[in-house]
Amino acid sequence: MHEKEVKGILSAQNGMNIYRGCTHGCIYCDSRSKCYQINHDFEDIEVKINAPELLENSLRKKRKKCMIGTGAMCDPYIQLEEKLGNTRKCIEIINSYGFGFAIQTKSSRILRDLDLLKEINKKTKCVVQMTLTTYDEDLCKIIEPNVSTTKERFEVLKIMRDNGIPTVVWLSPILPFINDTEENIRGILDYCIEAKVHGIICFGMGLTLREGNREYFYKKLDEHFPGMKARYIEKYGYTYEITSPSNDKLTNMLKTTCISNDILYDIGECFNYLHKFEDKSEYEQLMLPGL
Ligand code: SF4
Repeated sequence: MHEKEVKGILSAQNGMNIYRGCTHGCIYCDSRSKCYQINHDFEDIEVKINAPELLENSLRKKRKKCMIGTGAMCDPYIQLEEKLGNTRKCIEIINSYGFGFAIQTKSSRILRDLDLLKEINKKTKCVVQMTLTTYDEDLCKIIEPNVSTTKERFEVLKIMRDNGIPTVVWLSPILPFINDTEENIRGILDYCIEAKVHGIICFGMGLTLREGNREYFYKKLDEHFPGMKARYIEKYGYTYEITSPSNDKLTNMLKTTCISNDILYDIGECFNYLHKFEDKSEYEQLMLPGL
């Protein structure tokens, strides 16, 4: 790891990345792409040492409350977080300033901060987003090697459900010829139903590959799936969007399952939900007897 003092922490859409780089080792990781200009080893985590301070300054100045997001580019619960606790410090600030929160992770380390997530969700809204790609636990350990397995993430989703914290699942990416099977998608959807997730975000059954993440992905294919890289190149060449031949069938399965279980699947609606700030204290005031 190395430390860096940064100039800003919140994006225009109120998202933030507390760390830069990731040690979870997902073989398909888009954040490795060259376009993000990470000029250090991806596993050599950049710790933004002034992140909590910058976040507090930004929230103090905001005139309107909103949802704050994290986890889009780098998992906020990498191994290092156990020692540094910077994600927790940022959540404490979000909670104390009364903002909403949408966090995305693949790690059950998030349970350490359940107390804060519950407090935020009591006052406003806290949404926990988890990525699920692979129902098969052995396959999961190959393609997402250093993080909680799908089953462990499912346990987290159920704990969130039992604590009244809404969840959204990212069903992405789906790797052609590897996990683009009906059995895999059915298994994940059954988890989502049981965990009563609010929404499922899926941009189609496939993945994206571009300079930086493509090389790493192909190297890992060679290590774990002999012959698969040649199959990908033959079928897709060097295109950015890699869509499963089973996309239509699997997407249809996703939609019909979501409709019959009252789960949001429209991407626009899911993002609206993630970005919509809700003030529950006003609602509680309205519900007071005599008002
Ligand atoms: S958890 Fe996310 S950021 Fe980390 S390696 Fe996996 S896909 Fe990349």
